[in-house]
Amino acid sequence: MATFALTWVYWEEIERTMTTTDNRRLFYDLDRDDLLGFVEAGGWPRYRADQLYDWQQKGITDFSEMKNVPKTIREALSDSFIAAPMSLVSLEASAFDGTKKALFQLMDGHAIETVLMRYGEQRSVCVSSQVGCAMGCTFCASTGLGFVRNLSVGELIGQVLLMRKESREPLTHVTVMGIGEPLLNLSALIPFIHRLSDPKGLNISMRRITVSTCGLPDMMLELANAALPINVAVSLHAPNQKLREQLMPIAKQVDLETLFDACRQLITKTGRRITFEYALFDKVNDRDEDAMELADRLHGMLCHVNLIPANEIAGVPYRKSPADRVKRFLALLEKRRIVASVRRELGSDITAACGQLRRKRESWITP
Ligand code: SAH
Repeated sequence: MATFALTWVYWEEIERTMTTTDNRRLFYDLDRDDLLGFVEAGGWPRYRADQLYDWQQKGITDFSEMKNVPKTIREALSDSFIAAPMSLVSLEASAFDGTKKALFQLMDGHAIETVLMRYGEQRSVCVSSQVGCAMGCTFCASTGLGFVRNLSVGELIGQVLLMRKESREPLTHVTVMGIGEPLLNLSALIPFIHRLSDPKGLNISMRRITVSTCGLPDMMLELANAALPINVAVSLHAPNQKLREQLMPIAKQVDLETLFDACRQLITKTGRRITFEYALFDKVNDRDEDAMELADRLHGMLCHVNLIPANEIAGVPYRKSPADRVKRFLALLEKRRIVASVRRELGSDITAACGQLRRKRESWITP
């Protein structure tokens, strides 16, 4: 609680200095080719572009930090670009498992959250893809806070670079599982994935990047056409159309068979196993017949089911399935030869878990 009180103070401070009239682009929106274009247009040697890129990778937030770059270039940069993609408002660390949660303020005053999780040697950053979310899942803490806007590619990569800088942790994995529906922001998501995997940059292999979607077939096909060897996770949460509509209003617009067809096409295009996320809610979707129906629906598909012990959210009527239920559900799937596992619960003391991001803060932040 102490951390949150502190955050409140920070926020008031920031609000007073907020820039909303600045129409320069973000420096982090520039990729390597853009930087080269900028350097060439200024008549400077090409190696300057590599230097600018290296500074971006280090997570600079002020052009004056670029010690080996001449002042003329730094001034030209600041005439056209904003150095920082966002500023850090708070960074909390879980006392249990070292999960870290950052609250960032974007340049237009909106706020987003980014989480770093640790499992053994792995360091995984979970990024938000939008400010708010429009999908309306009935069990999710982001629902009700409204959708504001998509994040730009610079704001996506900025979360990863600043989290790496602030936490001083080398990163191995990235998941796009924070707030928002990433497939409604494909025009930033695809370049973001390319930038993450750039060998001269973060060099995170696409096999270590996971994008989670509530399952929008048209967008999934568009993603399939990009043929990126990333992991795609589909939030399924129900074995049939009726229950899915109850949990996820977006399902009213997406027939389950059409969704599974899109999944099959994605599997064929990328050759990669798809993950189905299934949060278990007590007596809602965790009964034996749900497990059996789910196994029947997924039979023969190259997939993996990730069972998530649900996170209980204040004001949400669903309760978490008891541990023995989760175990039984898993066993029923495995008995029917469905590859499945139960997701570890991390960061529970700092509300860094699925669906909990942003909510706590909303009572004090209205950008
Ligand atoms: N819009 C994307 C990604 C954001 S949510 C999607 O729907 O996949 C990330 C994951 O957290 C999704 O699987 C979502 O369904 C899950 N989630 C949201 N609220 C949850 C809760 N209370 N308990 C468990 N999982 C939750």
